[in-house]
Amino acid sequence: MADKSANDNGKKRILTGIRPTGQLHVGHYVGALENWVRLQHEYDAYFLIADYQALADHIDDIDLIRESVLQVGIDWLSVGLDPEESTFVIQSYVPEHAELTMLLSFITPLGMLQRNPTLKAETEQLRPDQLNVGFFNYPMSQVADILLPRADLVPVGDDQAPHIEMTREIARKFNRLFAPESPVFPEPGTLIGRVPRLSGTDGQSKMSKSRGNAIALSDDADTVQKKVMGMYTDPTRLRATDPGHVEGNPVFEYHDAFNTDTAQVDDFKERYRAGKVGDVEVKKALVVAMNNFLDPIREKRAYYEGHMSEVEDALMEGTRRARATAAETMGAVRDAMRISSYTRTWE
Ligand code: ATP
Ligand code: MG
Repeated sequence: MADKSANDNGKKRILTGIRPTGQLHVGHYVGALENWVRLQHEYDAYFLIADYQALADHIDDIDLIRESVLQVGIDWLSVGLDPEESTFVIQSYVPEHAELTMLLSFITPLGMLQRNPTLKAETEQLRPDQLNVGFFNYPMSQVADILLPRADLVPVGDDQAPHIEMTREIARKFNRLFAPESPVFPEPGTLIGRVPRLSGTDGQSKMSKSRGNAIALSDDADTVQKKVMGMYTDPTRLRATDPGHVEGNPVFEYHDAFNTDTAQVDDFKERYRAGKVGDVEVKKALVVAMNNFLDPIREKRAYYEGHMSEVEDALMEGTRRARATAAETMGAVRDAMRISSYTRTWE
């Protein structure tokens, strides 16, 4: 396969990724993956499995990271990411990610991390002994992840927007300080998915791998049924004849996101507001809609589970391309910073 590392195909670049910390879920799909699948043909796309970054809060569960890396690969192939079109990357196999994180940290004011609203919310959920320096620094490593392939666009859920804003600031600063004549880094744009932040089945504002409130892309039909029937709904409504709230009700949020029968959804909403339909009926229809949505993904997953060598090849072929791109960028970074060429010869 031709080496795409030089970005000589004229396409703009994408970098985005996922931490291998558990099963991918339907929130990932509507917040991120759906855009990735659509954009992979238009862009030179890099999709990162961020196993180094996963260490931030999983240093004591490396088994989970190990199990999740190939599972993420299967999920990506099952939703339609194409490893011929795009570049799948295992972060730790490209050590330049760590090197660039370290170099950029010297031009990053501490206050930039202290003010980051996503980091702030996440650290507040940790006990003080769980907050290690690596966790605090993870947005910095994400900045390096995005800048390493010199990405132009980052498609993500909206919790990631502050990290991309930080990336733009750091790219600008690096270029101003070290490469004013010919910038090394583009300032990447942010692209938020169709559903910026899908709620959890428990009514929490974000479905998350690590909070036990997710419907996984790999859940079977029975599991989906159990999860949906047990979902959080309008807590103010005691009887099916009480008028109910549609807004802020995750059952309707999921109907809007996954049920293709919009006439049915509109009818449910009207009857729910008027106290003319029970939660059970609305949830049963959601089970059907979710299973219809997941069926084609399950089918492809079953194929790849039986063809693991294809999954491994996809990850390794992409990682090889990413290593070439990374070496090129780090050469440009070291030259711009003049952390190179101290002697007349290298060897
Ligand atoms: P963790 O709880 O371990 O942080 P996560 O579910 O947040 O896991 P990430 O790997 O951190 O998953 O996120 C991967 C991508 O999916 C990011 O672009 C993120 O914005 C997006 N994403 C994650 N959860 C949601 C959600 N509930 N709704 C929309 N997008 C989401
Ligand atoms: Mg997350």
